[in-house]
Amino acid sequence: MNKPATITIAGAGLVGSLLSVMLGQRGYRVTVFERRSDMRREEVDSGRSINLALSERGIYALKMAGLMDQVEKLLIPMRGRELHLLNGTREFWPYGQREHEVIYSVSRSELNSLMMTAAEIHPDVQVLFDQKCQKIDFEKNELSVIDEKTNQPRVHKFEMLIGADGAGSQIRQALIPIAGGESESEFLDHDYKELEIPAGPGVTHQIEKEALHIWPRGGYMLIALPNLDGSFTVTLFMPKRGKPSFEQLDEPDELIAFFKEQFPDALELIPDLKADYFSNPQGELGTVRCNPWYYQNDGLILGDAAHAVVPFHGQGMNLGFEDCSEIIRLLDKHHDDWAKVLPEFDSIRRPCANAIADMAIENYITMRDSVLDPKFQLKKELGFELEKLHPNCFIPRYSMVMFHRIPYDTVFQRGQIQTQLLNELVAGADELSDIDLMSAGKLVQERLSQIVG
Ligand SMILES: Cc1cc2nc3c(=O)[nH]c(=O)nc-3n(C[C@H](O)[C@H](O)[C@H](O)COP(=O)(O)OP(=O)(O)OC[C@H]3O[C@@H](n4cnc5c(N)ncnc54)[C@H](O)[C@@H]3O)c2cc1C
Repeated sequence: MNKPATITIAGAGLVGSLLSVMLGQRGYRVTVFERRSDMRREEVDSGRSINLALSERGIYALKMAGLMDQVEKLLIPMRGRELHLLNGTREFWPYGQREHEVIYSVSRSELNSLMMTAAEIHPDVQVLFDQKCQKIDFEKNELSVIDEKTNQPRVHKFEMLIGADGAGSQIRQALIPIAGGESESEFLDHDYKELEIPAGPGVTHQIEKEALHIWPRGGYMLIALPNLDGSFTVTLFMPKRGKPSFEQLDEPDELIAFFKEQFPDALELIPDLKADYFSNPQGELGTVRCNPWYYQNDGLILGDAAHAVVPFHGQGMNLGFEDCSEIIRLLDKHHDDWAKVLPEFDSIRRPCANAIADMAIENYITMRDSVLDPKFQLKKELGFELEKLHPNCFIPRYSMVMFHRIPYDTVFQRGQIQTQLLNELVAGADELSDIDLMSAGKLVQERLSQIVG
């Protein structure tokens, strides 16, 4: 039996903060070292997206921590995607077909602040800011930390060190070699940049509030998520090099000409386009895959530290929150014996993370390109129809990811079968009435096992 009394967490981002709440509630004494200043007191540039899409897996973990009542106040439902086509028309496509099948826009900083406060309320949880974890000695169980404001170094002895320190994790860099594992980071050829549609008069939203807006343009796209103050955070995803690209659009006039041609309705809504574009950082997008995620009974990595994924399925945070709920489930199962929890967590979660990493990359192509294909719309309609007729067997892949907690690796496998099936069924069909739903149902029953009771 290995049950540490104290737990040290590196990183008070989204995942580290939630985990500290949950472990504090469980009776552990938790110390969290966070490199940045306290975002509730000082403006902190996270360098990351301003708002995020929260969905079922994240909500489940927040409920488990008893935080959902507070988080609900921060949420804006997004019932579907609103496509802004080049010809000026807009199309709204619901994400799901049941009332509760929506995803939610939430401010990263509001959510993170709420969880930090929930952690600190707990007498056994201490969150220390401006503390950068620098060096980890897993032989001596020592963590070297430097105070970013005073430059004062300190050495902290740990029983169990959990790295929730994001995609560039120091803990991962120390843990993987000593555990004899391997790690790879793969960057996309596309970057992103954030822009803003300000609120309309009287804190109104200038475009549909309850939607995730997409301007799909084949090789690149613009998206916008609503904020509670009436504004939208807009993100431009585009290649680093080539035409068009971030490298090429380096003059204000070229930028405006590009938006006039490609995103004319968005251009009217973004008054500070030039300032936003030329002053906001250009972010990279990457996938981190590594193994193992733990070392003996001394160290564990989770969240982006273990598995950063590209943001096109809106799952990075949700996946990290699901890590937290899974840790708690395994602690329950093994009566807090971490010697059993760590290997089981690693073996269950790594295939899941790899699966959503792949699906997230695929979804970039779906969002920026496939949605423009008329067959895509037909497949979407057919998928909903098959779900209505065979709810225990066929659930559209997007819904499995966003509205269920079916393990991601299962989602990936079933998704492949379903995609094949949909492709076969829509071949030669122009509309739903061209498809024989009886025969389609038979194929569903033959190829897919029951998934929900
Ligand atoms: C453009 C974009 C859009 C996204 N949209 C979504 C979305 O819609 N839905 C979704 O679910 N996910 C989304 N994500 C992914 C999501 O942001 C991440 O998965 C999530 O932030 C991971 O949380 P984390 O706590 O693991 O890491 P982070 O949020 O990166 O937090 C890590 C924390 O560790 C701290 N830290 C780092 N190094 C050290 C150190 N050496 N010492 C001490 N502290 C340290 C950092 O300061 C930070 O506070 C998006 C990501 C991007 C880039």
